[in-house]
Amino acid sequence: MSIINNIIVSVVQLMPKPVVRFFSNRYIAGDHLNDAVRMTKELNKKGIYSTIDVLGEAITTKEEAINAHSQCLAVLEVIHKEKLMSNLSIKPTQMALQIDFDFCVKQVRELCTKAREYGTFVRLDMEDATTTDDILRLHRILRSEFDNVGVVIQSYLRRTVRDIEEQKDIALNYRLCKGIYIEAEEIAFKGREEIQENYLLSLRKMFEVGAYVGIATHDIYLIEGAKKIINEMKVDASRYEFQMLLGVKEDLRDQLNAEGFKVRIYVPFGKDWYKYSIRRLKENPQVAGHIVKNIFSLN
Ligand SMILES: Cc1cc2nc3c(=O)[nH]c(=O)nc-3n(C[C@H](O)[C@H](O)[C@H](O)COP(=O)(O)OP(=O)(O)OC[C@H]3O[C@@H](n4cnc5c(N)ncnc54)[C@H](O)[C@@H]3O)c2cc1C
Repeated sequence: MSIINNIIVSVVQLMPKPVVRFFSNRYIAGDHLNDAVRMTKELNKKGIYSTIDVLGEAITTKEEAINAHSQCLAVLEVIHKEKLMSNLSIKPTQMALQIDFDFCVKQVRELCTKAREYGTFVRLDMEDATTTDDILRLHRILRSEFDNVGVVIQSYLRRTVRDIEEQKDIALNYRLCKGIYIEAEEIAFKGREEIQENYLLSLRKMFEVGAYVGIATHDIYLIEGAKKIINEMKVDASRYEFQMLLGVKEDLRDQLNAEGFKVRIYVPFGKDWYKYSIRRLKENPQVAGHIVKNIFSLN
């Protein structure tokens, strides 16, 4: 990323919240579950799936975790009631991962139980590297009890291929992404090409160990690379899907859908939109640049 982009993303963090909200609206369905349902129905009409996320992470009290848990249950209820082509994504820290591990297991176990009853699925998002071991441990425990749960793997982490190897006895359903948090060079690749290379290597490994993979990226190079691997390894269409974020590269999403690939969109909703939005805006310096230009009339 250029120095200018670095400056722009730093400035974005100093922006007033309403301004951040204005520019991040495209990445969020709205404040309420109804908004996520409406968005999912629009996607479903096109044959596209969604995964619904209740915004919020790294909570500090059990009360907050219990509240997040009830909101997640409400998501599962509505998926069932409205027969949505959708599932649930959760942030383990939102379920109290860093407060009380056993309590977190209990909370997520209840979600998996309800999801199983309704024939749907729970995805454990991957968070920053301080949580990786605990999220994989949580996943291992749940995976021994449920088929309808899976975890996310980040290709920027140096440990990733080893993790896939180590989990081959249990991990049958992954989402593979590059990773969004800022991590130290000792544990994470920093170069765009190294991250891409590790992404495709990890994808190959996942298919080799027999996993289902949500190929989560908007990077054309990776999408083309994934298609090549799928062809070369003759991977059946029942073993993967493409995944993208709401508001990002909708043309690419529609193109993949038109080509007949299964596509799922990550649909976040809720009042805790700020941290999520800042991460999305940092990913996209062009949008961030517009904010700066509009505010300071630099153009
Ligand atoms: C469904 C899904 C779930 C995810 N879950 C996790 C998770 O659990 N943990 C985690 O760490 N990360 C997660 N991520 C984020 C991921 O790690 C990357 O940060 C993000 O997807 C950007 O990487 P990319 O592969 O799209 O490549 P990039 O090179 O970043 O993007 C490729 C192109 O897509 C466009 N683009 C990308 N982001 C934006 C944006 N915000 N706004 C506008 N255009 C954009 C740009 O044109 C860019 O050139 C998830 C991503 C997806 C798609």
